[in-house]
Amino acid sequence: MLRLLCFTAHPDDEAGGFGGTLLRYAERGVETDVICLTPGQAATHRGNARSDEELSAMRRREFEAACKLLKISHGTVLDYPDGKLDRQDFHAVVADLTQRVRELRPHVVMTMGTEGAVTAHPDHSMVSIFATMACHWAGRTNRFPEQLQNGLKPHQTQKLYYATALFTMAERQPVSLAPTTTILDLEPHEIDTKIAAFKCHTSQAPLFGFFEEMVRKRAKKEVFHLANCVKPHKAEMETDLFAGVEESP
Ligand SMILES: [Zn+2]
Repeated sequence: MLRLLCFTAHPDDEAGGFGGTLLRYAERGVETDVICLTPGQAATHRGNARSDEELSAMRRREFEAACKLLKISHGTVLDYPDGKLDRQDFHAVVADLTQRVRELRPHVVMTMGTEGAVTAHPDHSMVSIFATMACHWAGRTNRFPEQLQNGLKPHQTQKLYYATALFTMAERQPVSLAPTTTILDLEPHEIDTKIAAFKCHTSQAPLFGFFEEMVRKRAKKEVFHLANCVKPHKAEMETDLFAGVEESP
């Protein structure tokens, strides 16, 4: 069975950044896993939550509902602090994510770009950097060797993608996006389900109108940058994240 792992920073990134792609591969029989690093407790929009703890609990439930709509096999929200990923211990976070890559053994990993996606959120940049190093180091016997003592094996991910975009947002901080190498044109039902999954995040309701309009007007595709690949090759345009991927091991 082919496996796709997606690393995100906040509940709603899975739907907003990757929803169409996650649904497409789930419907093709690929195991899809999402690991979200924070429960989103620093959000501006807080529903009726009276504390960070209440907001975290609410957003974990919203994430679960979105995962169900997107047919995600396993959705996990970790407990790193929202808005502070750049102040975490690099070695400890990468060790945590490396162990998860070694356990899940994805053929393909996708995450956000190092620039922080079109919103330029520093947490988006940090999840990109942590996930990138976890993918590289999960395959090496000399990185976190203590994880390899109880049957866990090194695992080399075949392809690593950064979500990117073909537009920027003038009202946000400037971003330099990774060039698009891979374009997934979304089917109407994939667009509708992506928007419905985003709307599972009811605490973020003030963003719904803007998000739906943006997707329907500017983002009927999800586009990616192939950052790393086990097979050396010249960059070429693709329409499938699993192009050239071998099912075993
Ligand atoms: Zn986010």
